[in-house]
Order: sequence, then structure tokens, then C-alpha cells
Amino acid sequence: MDLDKAIGLVAEVPDFPRPGILFRDFAPLFASADGFAAVTAALADTLDHDVELLAAVEARGFLLAAALGQASGLGVVMVRKPGKLPQVAARADYELEYGTAALELPAGVVQPGQHVAVIDDVLATGGTVAAACGLLEQADAVVTGVSVVLELDGLGGREALSGRQVHALHSS
Ligand code: AMP
Repeated sequence: MDLDKAIGLVAEVPDFPRPGILFRDFAPLFASADGFAAVTAALADTLDHDVELLAAVEARGFLLAAALGQASGLGVVMVRKPGKLPQVAARADYELEYGTAALELPAGVVQPGQHVAVIDDVLATGGTVAAACGLLEQADAVVTGVSVVLELDGLGGREALSGRQVHALHSS
């Protein structure tokens, strides 16, 4: 399947989870083996050659990074919502397009100096990915770049990540 068609499988749901938010629902894309494979291949093309590990942001980033890791011969570190990890290296609190949130990095998974790419589904305000990058850098990892499927224009995500290499397969 071509990439545009695959990305077209992402459904737009108005007013979820709050009025005024146009939610991008990845469920139909993940349910399509061909669409998911096309997106995985396109994400693989965004990775620097020196990437050693993928950091996946909960929850849709987990699916994307798992597929991408298997396709690219890379392992995955799960950057999780609070209360899920038995051993936490660091926690970051941040603002979302629709509320506040926090992420945690597991202890003992990321090695100092390791080159890590951050993977997520949607870049909106950039708060989520910026928090993930900050956690990795607290663990002395080197963040090589950020790869997302969709970038939402006009929400300041690129600016929030200024100085970082940001790859988006599609922007709207
Ligand atoms: P942000 O931190 O504002 O860049 O938001 C990105 C995170 O929130 C990603 O992990 C997305 O899964 C989720 N997100 C934000 N806005 C949307 C949206 N309009 N549709 C789907 N997911 C979104």
C-alpha cells in the first residue's frame, strides 16, 4: 500500500476526548497489515544510521516502535504513563493539547551514551515528545531524533522541539 493511502486510514474523530479536539484514531491503520507495514517502512527511512535503541511513547508509540524495531533490528524502551513501571529512573510532568500528563522512564534500560530515537504517533504541542527526550537525556542517552506519523500544524510542536531533528510522515 502506498504511504498516503496508509495514512488515510487514520480516522478523524471530532470532539474527542474533549469538545474542539479532532482526534486522530490509529485503530483502522493498525488493523490493516498493509497499511501498518507501509507506515513502518516509511518510519524506518527516517532513522539515522547510528540509532541503537527506540524509545516508544505509551500507548500507540508502543505499537509503532515494536514494529519498527523488528523491521530495523533495534530494541525498544517503553516510556510509560505513571504507575506502570516497577522501577523508575525519572519522571517528567508536562502539558498536553487537552490536559496535563506525566511520563516515566524505566530504570536500568537505557545505557549512558546510547543513541536513541523517539517514536510516537502524533506530534501536537510537542510536550509529550519533549518530555520523553528530556527523560532520555537525564539518563545520559543521546537523542538522535524524533519520528512521528502525523504532525498537527499550528500547535507549536516543532518549536517545542527546536534544535532536534523531527521527522513526520505527514502533516495536516
Ligand atoms: P503533544 O504532547 O501535545 O504533542 O501530544 C502528543 C500526544 O498526545 C501523542 O502521544 C498523541 O497520542 C496524543 N495526541 C495529542 N493530540 C492528539 C490528537 N488530536 N489526536 C490523537 N492523539 C493526540
